[in-house]
Amino acid sequence: MTERLVAGGELQEDADVSLRPRRIDEFVGQSHTKQTLQIAIDAAKIREEPLDHSIIYGPPGLGKTTLSHIIAAEMGVPIRVTSGPAIERAGDMAAILTSLQPNEVLFIDEIHRLNRVVEEVLYSAMEDFFLSWMVGKGLAARSVNLRINPFTLVGATTRFSMVSAPLRDRFGSVWRLEYYDVDEMNIIVERSARILETDHDVDGVAEIAGRSRGTPRVANRLLKRTRDYALVKADNSITGAVARAALEQLNVDPLGLDQSDHRLLITIIDKFDGGPVGLETLAAALNEDSDTIMDVWEPFLLQLGFLDRTPRGRVATRLAHEHLGRPFFALPHS
Ligand code: ADP
Repeated sequence: MTERLVAGGELQEDADVSLRPRRIDEFVGQSHTKQTLQIAIDAAKIREEPLDHSIIYGPPGLGKTTLSHIIAAEMGVPIRVTSGPAIERAGDMAAILTSLQPNEVLFIDEIHRLNRVVEEVLYSAMEDFFLSWMVGKGLAARSVNLRINPFTLVGATTRFSMVSAPLRDRFGSVWRLEYYDVDEMNIIVERSARILETDHDVDGVAEIAGRSRGTPRVANRLLKRTRDYALVKADNSITGAVARAALEQLNVDPLGLDQSDHRLLITIIDKFDGGPVGLETLAAALNEDSDTIMDVWEPFLLQLGFLDRTPRGRVATRLAHEHLGRPFFALPHS
């Protein structure tokens, strides 16, 4: 599959961390989460206790990893970073837990992908800060308990519903990140342009912000591509006209839709009369995996109101037809 410039998941070109906010006041938007988090952090510091275990969820690229680093920085503690698929055996999990510093943040990305045995090691560790396991067999079997340092588990997930109920119940706080609005995206793009020391104006910033799908990671990526374009094709300054030309050349339309989005909508409109069409049928027509369509392609189209998920299948809405310049015939109510 080709890499999509406007997808929120991480690409190799995103590896540079210079644009990542370090402290809570540099983290743009998500004001409710930030305020509640600040109070929780202040309270934990006054009590000299670790912060409650927290789970952060939301679509890729909205700042889950960034926020977990901020939590550690604000608490003044180190952070250990790992991910669900990277911890394969219970012993790996136990090794991590026994080596944590007091009050350290353990960040587990994609926590919904932890396997069951690994997850079970976490339960007593999260509840009472000890590890418990069985040695010996049959009548000789006994359980061994080992105390570990108090710590804060921060789990991140794009699929909250796939986190098992026993694990979910052990988190004290749940933070949900939302897509950013246009004003917030403008602030994010402007901040990044300043850090990258790229000459820019308000229109150039707005052009990038408007096409970034409410997702900071996409904004930073489009900014960097536009910066390259400005250097090579214009006089190294990101104006509105330069940004428009750069993003058109990258096939990112004014709403941030790319060719894959267009292909999906046009398939529904042209091949299936606007829908409803079942997910599997649509996936076959697009030659794509249905999970990828559901998890990666659809969320932003749903958010824009271009797509509806109905019991009878996917429907391209009036807004989608208008955006693509296709006539819209409303279905009679059944
Ligand atoms: P996630 O873990 O949710 O996939 P990240 O935390 O890796 O997302 O964020 C992707 C990038 O977007 C970060 O490196 C950072 O530069 C930028 N970013 C995310 N959230 C914000 C924010 N609230 N303000 C400014 N930049 C942000």
